[in-house]
Amino acid sequence: EYTGMSKERIMEIRRQNCNPMIMKVTYYKKPVLIHQGYMQWLWDVDGRRYLDLFAGVATVSVGSLPPESDGSSRAAVEEIYSEKLASYLPDPLKVVYLTNSGSEANDLAMLMARLHTGNFDIITLRGSYHGGSPQTMGLTSNAAYKYPIANGLGCTTTMCPDVFRGPWGGSHCRDSPVQTTRPCGCAQGHCMANDQYIGQLKETFATSVPSRIAAFFGEPIQGVGGAVQYPKNYLKDAYKLVREKGGVCIADEVQTGFGRTGSHFWGFQGHDVIPDMVTMAKGIGNGFPMGAVVTTPEIAAAFAKGVHFNTFGGNPVACAVGSSVLDVIKKDGTQQISLDVGTYLMTELAKLRDKYEIIGDVRGKGLQIGVEMVKDKASRDTLPPEAMSEIFEDIKDMGILIGKGGVYGQIFRIQPPMCITMEDADFFLAIFDKAIHNYMERR
Ligand code: PMP
Repeated sequence: EYTGMSKERIMEIRRQNCNPMIMKVTYYKKPVLIHQGYMQWLWDVDGRRYLDLFAGVATVSVGSLPPESDGSSRAAVEEIYSEKLASYLPDPLKVVYLTNSGSEANDLAMLMARLHTGNFDIITLRGSYHGGSPQTMGLTSNAAYKYPIANGLGCTTTMCPDVFRGPWGGSHCRDSPVQTTRPCGCAQGHCMANDQYIGQLKETFATSVPSRIAAFFGEPIQGVGGAVQYPKNYLKDAYKLVREKGGVCIADEVQTGFGRTGSHFWGFQGHDVIPDMVTMAKGIGNGFPMGAVVTTPEIAAAFAKGVHFNTFGGNPVACAVGSSVLDVIKKDGTQQISLDVGTYLMTELAKLRDKYEIIGDVRGKGLQIGVEMVKDKASRDTLPPEAMSEIFEDIKDMGILIGKGGVYGQIFRIQPPMCITMEDADFFLAIFDKAIHNYMERR
């Protein structure tokens, strides 16, 4: 069924929320708004029939789906979804580019940042994961995901402001329901550790890039890195510095977005910043392969000087899925579940941290939780991989699947679907307790 929007309204959304290239490169003076397709035939919203002699350009090889099929019968789905997704972001983040994965979204963001700024160098945080394509592998800073191929030209890393593993502590600065046990010397709301990490970023500018950069990428909370959180003002101060150096700030929300952090819909909102670009994937489609970059009209305009095109980015099925995901998040209150169950889990896990010598740190926000395992609390040496595997395996044998992360594989990651219950949390807590207990007995 056609959504009933007027052509004028659709063109208005295109101008506001879609790749401006679409407005420039149209094949017709008056674009055709396709409503239905069947075999080699297409119908526009006014019921006019066209013989399609171009769909065979790699996309449709055996004919369009019959009119009753959902995939082809809804006109303007990309516009409708783009407008809806953009409505979840603060101004001036309004222009949506749809992709098929997170790597593809970050690839695109790299390109746009370079074109917009005229600079080439990009800085990321050590321990981050931003993708596995040859370009994004350069942003990713975790040896496990690196291959010996040419990658990372123009990509530089800076020290990750990890308040647990880093040398400067940072406990009272952290935006988390539980705290680590090593204070950094914060005084009157001023975080000393933050100063040190910002100092490291300044040193990166002084030593490793030609002073001016294209972009700074950061996950609001590191995902693959193991739910690593930064001192409270780190992103705010880093963004300021990056902008002074001509760069744009990019928040990779592939893991933190769509309400996972509980307190906010986007992870960056917990840092009191507004990025110039936001990249997203994974949760955007609840398992369906899709991703997105959302940016400002200004950056989109710089990018529209060339033609950017993505065959399956924004396809009708992906848009329908993405739209339903946003509806379910709202209807089921999953952001609130993230906050409630996540806070409960972390509070209870912190008790286990106090009980066991090998649990070094519990952290995170909402349902993005990391439990960092150590040989002992005093040394903070990482628990070796064999020990991690033993515990991991035991937890699985007792019926629960969790994840592992961190550059040394020393962090258990708990990032469940956001529909879990308090009972599920209790089940996990009991089993985690048992698995650690079992390991301590064997050791
Ligand atoms: N960014 C982050 C933060 C990720 O965690 C991932 C995937 N682990 C990606 C980007 C890349 O996404 P994809 O696997 O869809 O390419």
